[in-house]
Amino acid sequence: MTDIQVLKGHIIYTKEKDAFEVHENSYIVIKEGTVRGIHDTLPEVYRYVPVMDYGNALIIPSFIDLHIHAPQYMQMGVGLNLGLIDWLNQYTFKNEAKFEDVAYAKKVYPRFVDALYQNGTLRSCIFATIHKESTRELVKALENKRLSAYVGKVNMNQNAPDELLETTEESIRETMGFIEAIGDSEYVKPIITPRFAPSCTSDLMHQLGQLSHDRSIPIQTHLAETKREIDWVMSLFPDSKNYSHVYKDHQLYGDQKSLMAHTIYLSEDELEMAKNDNIFLVHCPNSNLNLTSGIMPVTTCIDKGLQVGMGSDVGAGHKIGMHHTITSAIQCSKMRHVLNPEERILKESEAFYLATKMNGRFFGKVGSFEEGYLFDALIVKDPDDLIEELTPLERLQRFLYCGGPDSIIGRYLEGCSI
Ligand SMILES: [Zn+2]
Repeated sequence: MTDIQVLKGHIIYTKEKDAFEVHENSYIVIKEGTVRGIHDTLPEVYRYVPVMDYGNALIIPSFIDLHIHAPQYMQMGVGLNLGLIDWLNQYTFKNEAKFEDVAYAKKVYPRFVDALYQNGTLRSCIFATIHKESTRELVKALENKRLSAYVGKVNMNQNAPDELLETTEESIRETMGFIEAIGDSEYVKPIITPRFAPSCTSDLMHQLGQLSHDRSIPIQTHLAETKREIDWVMSLFPDSKNYSHVYKDHQLYGDQKSLMAHTIYLSEDELEMAKNDNIFLVHCPNSNLNLTSGIMPVTTCIDKGLQVGMGSDVGAGHKIGMHHTITSAIQCSKMRHVLNPEERILKESEAFYLATKMNGRFFGKVGSFEEGYLFDALIVKDPDDLIEELTPLERLQRFLYCGGPDSIIGRYLEGCSI
């Protein structure tokens, strides 16, 4: 039974969004990286398997981030007095232009990846920059740390400084080159990444949509983050019915798995479209607050049956750890509730579910400890012994609101300790 592992501790996860499953002092059995069951006493059949006993520590699913910008790791917390478009022009584009220098990428990306690892984000969907070679350095850094990710070489051929603009032909050629270059990566897959509609001409978006379709590659981009951006998009693409349709009209919406970040200001028609086309809406609460974009109506979207995930959106989000995103999403929903009591507050279990099981859907059977799920997990133990006075669920709450890398004492990806 060498391919079987048994871990013991306080096991907590969310099978459904409305409640935590809590198994105190229990055993989780893993076979070939996949969860086989949770038991309060270890079945006789596993008698000879050595138990990895984590004592009073919590065993929880590891975090997944569905929207993060690796180069912006260098500008977290900087320039957040500005709104989206000014923040892009005054800070972000200048910062991203530096990644033309591969040596710079080699310095920055391993630190970014280490920050993901330290904070327990073991899978993520990442925007890089337009630069293929630097983006390959990001892939190497993820592989070295054995973190799972979708990585996108960003596409931009209009409305940015010259040093961040590609021709349409370059943009497609370099994207195909990147896809080929990482084809055999064990941990990283490509994702088509038009930055957002204003950065791409219709011709470029058509070709990216075709590429996504032909190669069955998923898509990530931004949608309806600010009102100023929406007005701009509709002036650039007057033939499309709404912002969502700009992507749909270019096969960049729902044809393959699609991640749409922010989606704060979707019309009723667009919400219906997102539901019908099985789009992942990605809520990025810290970024919503920092850039004064507004706050996504997250519980309204969930209650309409939409697929809602979560992202840190570093660097418009100022914290890389998904536990910060979870608590910020709850806080944001409370503020929306105060302003509009008809909108309900996001429950803690729901926010945790979004960052684990719901985000995990993008990667397959990931983010839960139900039988058949890949065993991706964090071992959480607060450095302060006195916290053991609290129940396991209270300790999870404390970790989500007040914890950080110091509290994470173990990480597992598909059953392997990493
Ligand atoms: Zn973003």
